[in-house]
Amino acid sequence: MPHSAEGLPCGVRGGARADAGAVGAAPYPCPVPGPEASPTPSAVETRTALVRRARKIDRVLAVTYPDAKAELDFDNPFECLVVTVLSAQTTDKRVNAVRPTLFAAYPDAKAMAGADRATLEGIVGPLGFFRAKTDALLKLSAALVEQHDGQVPPSLDALVKLPGVGRKTANVVLGNAFDLPGITVDTHFGRLARRLGFTTETDPVKVEHAVGELFPRRDWTMLSHHLIWHGRRICHAKKPACGACPVAKLCPSYGTGPTDPVAAAALVRTEGPN
Ligand code: SF4
Repeated sequence: MPHSAEGLPCGVRGGARADAGAVGAAPYPCPVPGPEASPTPSAVETRTALVRRARKIDRVLAVTYPDAKAELDFDNPFECLVVTVLSAQTTDKRVNAVRPTLFAAYPDAKAMAGADRATLEGIVGPLGFFRAKTDALLKLSAALVEQHDGQVPPSLDALVKLPGVGRKTANVVLGNAFDLPGITVDTHFGRLARRLGFTTETDPVKVEHAVGELFPRRDWTMLSHHLIWHGRRICHAKKPACGACPVAKLCPSYGTGPTDPVAAAALVRTEGPN
């Protein structure tokens, strides 16, 4: 089946679900045009054309990943902040596995600030770097208690002043716990923003600003989820599955990975690896 005139991937409207099918199957089926048929964005693409192409890509990814969301589990802003801090250097799955025990023991900042270090180290031990992570949680929760009466502040400026909280973590919390627009530039987002030609910047803050200018603020949080999900499932760092990519015809980097549909389908993951 061909792409539609809108560039939408075939067979995904209404839900090519990320959890459907086995790893290696083609859960986002869509024959991809060969390079000769691909209207590769020009090196002299105008600003208007770039904005249109970028927004079209986001629309396609929204249809491809209708369930896109943060892959870390949390129930409130405190949990969101803590699990995001813990997710550095480990997988979301591992963080999700320790979460119930962690928040049963320390449901809020006050409880965590008063935690027994050895007990907390034991809980976060499976995540690696347990001493550093325990340090981070103790300092972070103490700062929340001292500076914000135990509450997570809903502002970028206040969040990045907390110990161990950078812009990426702050934007995750704003976008997912407070429903405020936030662009999360993790490794996947940065790589895809460059491959898709949204920016040539490599500094995460510059990427955040450059990409943010292409989209309305209201789209920032979901755009982040769409790019991160696409990076985890199809547009991998080492071998992107170009031949199974629903935005292939809108991507100037088409051909970075295998374009053969069968070879590409074997690279597709049905859930995020981390
Ligand atoms: S998988 Fe290939 S075609 Fe798709 S976004 Fe990544 S580089 Fe572009």
